[in-house]
Amino acid sequence: MSDLRELYQELILDHSKKPRNFRVLEGAPRRAEGFNALCGDRFTVFVQMEGERIEDIAFQGSGCAVSKASASMMTAALKGKTREEASALLAKFHDLVTGQGSPDHPVDLGKLQVFAGVCEFPARVKCATLAWHTLGAALEGKDAAVSTE
Ligand code: ZN
Repeated sequence: MSDLRELYQELILDHSKKPRNFRVLEGAPRRAEGFNALCGDRFTVFVQMEGERIEDIAFQGSGCAVSKASASMMTAALKGKTREEASALLAKFHDLVTGQGSPDHPVDLGKLQVFAGVCEFPARVKCATLAWHTLGAALEGKDAAVSTE
Protein backbone atom coordinates (compact mmCIF):
# COMPACT_ATOMS: atom_id res chain seq x y z
CA MET A 1 0.00 0.00 0.00
CA SER A 2 1.44 3.30 -1.02
CA ASP A 3 1.94 6.07 1.47
CA LEU A 4 -0.96 8.38 2.12
CA ARG A 5 1.37 11.28 1.45
CA GLU A 6 1.31 10.37 -2.21
CA LEU A 7 -2.20 11.79 -2.26
CA TYR A 8 -0.98 15.17 -1.27
CA GLN A 9 0.40 16.09 -4.59
CA GLU A 10 1.31 19.63 -5.35
CA LEU A 11 -2.02 20.47 -6.93
CA ILE A 12 -4.03 19.18 -3.99
CA LEU A 13 -1.84 21.07 -1.54
CA ASP A 14 -2.13 24.23 -3.56
CA HIS A 15 -5.92 24.07 -3.74
CA SER A 16 -6.30 23.18 -0.06
CA LYS A 17 -4.09 26.10 0.98
CA LYS A 18 -5.58 28.57 -1.47
CA PRO A 19 -9.06 27.28 -2.27
CA ARG A 20 -10.67 28.83 -5.35
CA ASN A 21 -14.19 30.26 -5.15
CA PHE A 22 -14.04 29.97 -1.37
CA ARG A 23 -16.73 32.45 -0.37
CA VAL A 24 -20.39 32.81 0.37
CA LEU A 25 -22.38 33.43 -2.77
CA GLU A 26 -24.84 35.98 -1.51
CA GLY A 27 -28.39 35.42 -2.64
CA ALA A 28 -27.58 32.15 -4.41
CA PRO A 29 -30.93 30.45 -4.89
CA ARG A 30 -29.35 27.02 -4.78
CA ARG A 31 -27.30 25.85 -1.85
CA ALA A 32 -26.71 22.59 -0.04
CA GLU A 33 -24.71 21.53 2.95
CA GLY A 34 -22.59 18.41 3.05
CA PHE A 35 -21.09 16.69 6.07
CA ASN A 36 -18.64 13.82 6.20
CA ALA A 37 -18.88 12.47 9.74
CA LEU A 38 -15.98 10.11 9.18
CA CYS A 39 -13.50 12.95 8.82
CA GLY A 40 -15.40 16.00 10.02
CA ASP A 41 -15.45 17.73 6.63
CA ARG A 42 -18.33 20.17 6.35
CA PHE A 43 -19.06 22.34 3.33
CA THR A 44 -21.82 24.47 1.94
CA VAL A 45 -21.94 24.68 -1.85
CA PHE A 46 -23.60 27.69 -3.51
CA VAL A 47 -24.78 27.66 -7.09
CA GLN A 48 -26.08 30.50 -9.19
CA MET A 49 -27.80 29.23 -12.31
CA GLU A 50 -28.62 31.12 -15.45
CA GLY A 51 -31.08 28.94 -17.25
CA GLU A 52 -29.41 25.54 -17.49
CA ARG A 53 -25.91 26.96 -17.06
CA ILE A 54 -23.91 27.33 -13.87
CA GLU A 55 -23.20 31.04 -13.88
CA ASP A 56 -21.34 31.05 -10.58
CA ILE A 57 -20.38 28.47 -8.00
CA ALA A 58 -18.68 28.83 -4.64
CA PHE A 59 -18.20 26.98 -1.39
CA GLN A 60 -17.58 27.60 2.29
CA GLY A 61 -16.71 25.40 5.21
CA SER A 62 -13.83 23.42 6.59
CA GLY A 63 -12.30 20.05 6.07
CA CYS A 64 -9.14 18.09 5.40
CA ALA A 65 -6.80 18.86 2.50
CA VAL A 66 -8.39 16.27 0.20
CA SER A 67 -11.96 17.46 0.74
CA LYS A 68 -11.08 21.13 0.45
CA ALA A 69 -8.93 20.67 -2.65
CA SER A 70 -11.65 18.58 -4.25
CA ALA A 71 -14.27 21.26 -3.56
CA SER A 72 -11.96 23.97 -4.86
CA MET A 73 -11.12 22.12 -8.08
CA MET A 74 -14.76 21.21 -8.55
CA THR A 75 -15.86 24.85 -8.51
CA ALA A 76 -13.07 25.76 -10.93
CA ALA A 77 -14.07 22.93 -13.28
CA LEU A 78 -17.81 23.55 -13.22
CA LYS A 79 -18.19 27.29 -13.63
CA GLY A 80 -19.90 27.92 -16.95
CA LYS A 81 -20.90 24.28 -17.42
CA THR A 82 -24.49 23.20 -18.00
CA ARG A 83 -26.40 21.20 -15.43
CA GLU A 84 -26.08 18.17 -17.73
CA GLU A 85 -22.32 18.58 -18.07
CA ALA A 86 -22.01 18.99 -14.30
CA SER A 87 -23.94 15.77 -13.67
CA ALA A 88 -21.78 13.90 -16.18
CA LEU A 89 -18.62 15.22 -14.54
CA LEU A 90 -19.94 14.26 -11.10
CA ALA A 91 -20.51 10.68 -12.30
CA LYS A 92 -17.05 10.55 -13.90
CA PHE A 93 -15.39 11.90 -10.79
CA HIS A 94 -17.15 9.31 -8.67
CA ASP A 95 -15.90 6.57 -11.01
CA LEU A 96 -12.39 7.99 -10.81
CA VAL A 97 -12.09 8.06 -7.03
CA THR A 98 -13.80 4.71 -6.55
CA GLY A 99 -11.48 3.10 -9.10
CA GLN A 100 -14.19 2.18 -11.56
CA GLY A 101 -12.37 3.43 -14.63
CA SER A 102 -10.99 0.53 -16.68
CA PRO A 103 -7.72 0.44 -18.66
CA ASP A 104 -9.83 0.34 -21.82
CA HIS A 105 -11.97 3.25 -20.73
CA PRO A 106 -9.85 5.36 -18.41
CA VAL A 107 -11.66 8.16 -16.70
CA ASP A 108 -10.29 11.31 -18.29
CA LEU A 109 -10.79 14.30 -16.07
CA GLY A 110 -7.86 16.58 -16.78
CA LYS A 111 -6.52 18.17 -13.61
CA LEU A 112 -9.04 16.28 -11.50
CA GLN A 113 -7.04 13.16 -12.42
CA VAL A 114 -4.86 13.88 -9.37
CA PHE A 115 -7.62 12.36 -7.24
CA ALA A 116 -7.26 8.96 -8.92
CA GLY A 117 -4.99 7.80 -6.08
CA VAL A 118 -7.82 8.32 -3.62
CA CYS A 119 -9.44 5.02 -4.66
CA GLU A 120 -6.73 3.20 -2.69
CA PHE A 121 -7.98 4.85 0.49
CA PRO A 122 -11.68 4.08 1.02
CA ALA A 123 -11.95 6.50 3.94
CA ARG A 124 -10.65 9.29 1.71
CA VAL A 125 -13.19 8.62 -1.05
CA LYS A 126 -15.84 10.30 1.09
CA CYS A 127 -13.59 13.31 1.58
CA ALA A 128 -13.01 13.61 -2.17
CA THR A 129 -16.66 13.18 -3.17
CA LEU A 130 -18.32 15.24 -0.43
CA ALA A 131 -18.43 18.53 -2.32
CA TRP A 132 -19.61 16.76 -5.48
CA HIS A 133 -22.52 15.03 -3.77
CA THR A 134 -23.37 18.32 -2.13
CA LEU A 135 -23.34 20.03 -5.51
CA GLY A 136 -25.62 17.31 -6.86
CA ALA A 137 -28.10 18.06 -4.10
CA ALA A 138 -27.86 21.80 -4.76
CA LEU A 139 -28.54 21.28 -8.46
CA GLU A 140 -31.55 19.12 -7.71
CA GLY A 141 -32.78 21.77 -5.33
CA LYS A 142 -33.01 19.39 -2.41
CA ASP A 143 -33.39 21.09 0.94
CA ALA A 144 -32.02 18.18 2.93
CA ALA A 145 -28.42 18.31 4.07
CA VAL A 146 -26.11 15.72 2.53
CA SER A 147 -24.38 13.25 4.78
CA THR A 148 -21.97 10.60 3.58
CA GLU A 149 -23.12 8.26 6.32
ZN1 ZN B 1 -11.70 14.57 4.96
